[in-house]
Amino acid sequence: MDAYTAEFGFELRTCRWAEREWPPGETDGVDTAVLVARQLGTTRRRWDTIVLECDSEGLRRRARFGPDRLDSDLLHVVRNAPDEWCYYRDALPDPGYPWRYVRESIHEAADRGILETRKSGNRIEIRRKWAYPDWLERLVAIENKPDLDASAARALGSQLEYDVAVGLADEAWVATRRTDDPVEPVLFEDLPVEAGVLALEPDDLTAEVAWYPRSLPVTEPGTRILERPEGGKRDGSAARFEYAGPDWKADKRLAIAERAYERGWRSFVETMRPDCRRFELRAPDGPQALPYCTAKGRCQTAAECAGSCSEFEPEPPAWRTRGWPIEGGPGKRVQRILAERRRRRRPEL
Ligand code: SF4
Repeated sequence: MDAYTAEFGFELRTCRWAEREWPPGETDGVDTAVLVARQLGTTRRRWDTIVLECDSEGLRRRARFGPDRLDSDLLHVVRNAPDEWCYYRDALPDPGYPWRYVRESIHEAADRGILETRKSGNRIEIRRKWAYPDWLERLVAIENKPDLDASAARALGSQLEYDVAVGLADEAWVATRRTDDPVEPVLFEDLPVEAGVLALEPDDLTAEVAWYPRSLPVTEPGTRILERPEGGKRDGSAARFEYAGPDWKADKRLAIAERAYERGWRSFVETMRPDCRRFELRAPDGPQALPYCTAKGRCQTAAECAGSCSEFEPEPPAWRTRGWPIEGGPGKRVQRILAERRRRRRPEL
């Protein structure tokens, strides 16, 4: 099906496959709660697909903190809040930035109902409502390359080398379209041996592990590769690295996990134009709804499906008459369907 030849459609199919089948291989008796998100990472490195392997009970307890992410400032407050009333400056570790920002986070946490506060004279005292759970067990990064030719492999190789060197994700994978060759061609490409290779058939959503990854040392220091020699084998110039400490990594992993918790992978519709009359959701395998553009006759990419699209046509107001403006038109309905499916993946929400 051509719809998945483009990276975007393939990426959505990988997300759906991961949601159903992760972890790959022998998993009898393994109780892993999985959350899948896409297009998240750090400022230097954005991964296509992210799989969070979660502690089931921890994930349920995470729901007490609501569907929205906790950013690093809020995490600092709720993770360190005491279970008895205490002046916030005595209770919380020095944040390394001005305390007035901590006070803002305290007020935000109180407004969201995830922290108790009271005034004692001029002082703000805080008390936690619940302990923030250890819900994230492993974080897995997947790059999607349906057709991995040599030049795509070169670009991907340096991205994967970065992932291996920094060790922020527990595993790094490449998902590529399965071929009928006895050995998947991707294995002949010069990719780091630490990265796993998944051969995925997007039509029927089956996959085989062509190469198992190595676990990356997420609790040990890593290095961020900032610059590498570009001049080929004879280029003797040095690469530049930056230290990535275990604390930085732990904070980043949790911040990424929180964003993944909030967004999931179905949020693609938020950056597209479901209010275009050409926009449809089609479900090739029942539960998965993929975007489809009737003008293009295929799954459109998120970049194409924007207000700048020359074929954009707003949905006619008549489509919205029932219940509009409270209910909205088909575009709003699409957003609601996807939001509901996202919510179902988060137990207790
Ligand atoms: S015509 Fe353009 S804006 Fe409308 S659904 Fe297709 S890609 Fe999106």
